[in-house]
Amino acid sequence: MDTLVAGGAGFIGSHLCDATLAAGHTVWAIDNFATGRRENVAHLAAHPHFHLVEADVTEPLPPDLPSFARIYHLASPASPNATSPRSYMQLPLETAAVNTLGTQQLLERARRDGARILFASTSEIYGDPLVHPQTEEYRGNVSTIGPRAIYDEAKRFGETLMIAHWRRFGTDARLIRIFNTYGERMDPDDGRAVVNFAAQALRGEPLTIYGDGSQTRSLCHVSDLIRGIVAVMEGEGLAGEVFNLGNPDERTMIDLAHAVMTACDTELPLVFHPMPTDDPTRRCPDIGKAQRLLGWQPTIPLEVGLGRLIAAFRQELDRPAHATS
Ligand code: NAD
Ligand code: UDP
Repeated sequence: MDTLVAGGAGFIGSHLCDATLAAGHTVWAIDNFATGRRENVAHLAAHPHFHLVEADVTEPLPPDLPSFARIYHLASPASPNATSPRSYMQLPLETAAVNTLGTQQLLERARRDGARILFASTSEIYGDPLVHPQTEEYRGNVSTIGPRAIYDEAKRFGETLMIAHWRRFGTDARLIRIFNTYGERMDPDDGRAVVNFAAQALRGEPLTIYGDGSQTRSLCHVSDLIRGIVAVMEGEGLAGEVFNLGNPDERTMIDLAHAVMTACDTELPLVFHPMPTDDPTRRCPDIGKAQRLLGWQPTIPLEVGLGRLIAAFRQELDRPAHATS
């Protein structure tokens, strides 16, 4: 079976390439490296069923691709941290395009090929939620003009395109809303809380807390997420459905900072910075639908997953490009 993974050189996309290859698919990773990294898929270079195609999914796809049975659309910047050049705040129009024009283009391809297509949406579509935990029915509390809006609204419209295609043409379109996910192959420079805390803890620097650190997130290890993504794609009769995928283990950012320090076997000061505008105060998925319909739930405790991330970061930060003198 030929499977397209748009964004296949990214953090989550590269793990999805591993999983779909292991399931026996022939995998075509399409990536323009806007935020992804070649090293994420370097281990697959010699795999006989893996193909890496450098292309932008907002442009016409290269002509020499096969007819696909599965299309995963994970291509999009994902970090909100404006200090990172790879954040959606520094790539606003690229983010808008890939989640709308890119989605439309991949939907047309899915329709032509008779493929199932899955779009990676996000918990950000709930904005700063007023309902807790967030169920798939909740419609969100989102600004159209705030600093996070380019990502949130692009994902919301991407979802709308998916469902419109399903209604109009019967395209087998499936939606997932990913809640904060972490793990090996995260980019240490992309500015997300877990990677900042891990890099700071390993370098012996104070950990940067934005606001008072009482805001919450619920963190899912990437291996759990990948099982959920594949379950949504491979489940029968799920066209037009949307699933929250995340770990309901909700933590404050202060708790997360301490968990990272424990995983690094260190204690360091916390340094407080201003809270970014429109930063959600609470976030936690209701995963009841995924549990009922897919039999899916996360199994990796935060402390275990952080151990894996820290081990990977230790190796990466020791390499010359990241090592400090
Ligand atoms: P990532 O930045 O590591 O991966 C995204 C990949 O998409 C990168 O390899 C990037 O180069 C590629 N890409 C971007 N624009 C492209 C384009 N126009 N054409 C081709 N490739 C393009 O981010 P990630 O954390 O792996 O996120 C993957 C997906 O999951 C994204 O759609 C993101 O919005 C979604 N998501 C992630 C999280 C999370 O916690 N990591 C949470 C919610 C949603
Ligand atoms: N955050 C923090 N310190 C950092 C980076 C992020 O306290 O060095 C906070 C951020 O303000 C947010 C939370 O941690 O409240 C999660 O941020 P992240 O960028 O990981 O993802 P988000 O869920 O906001 O997209």
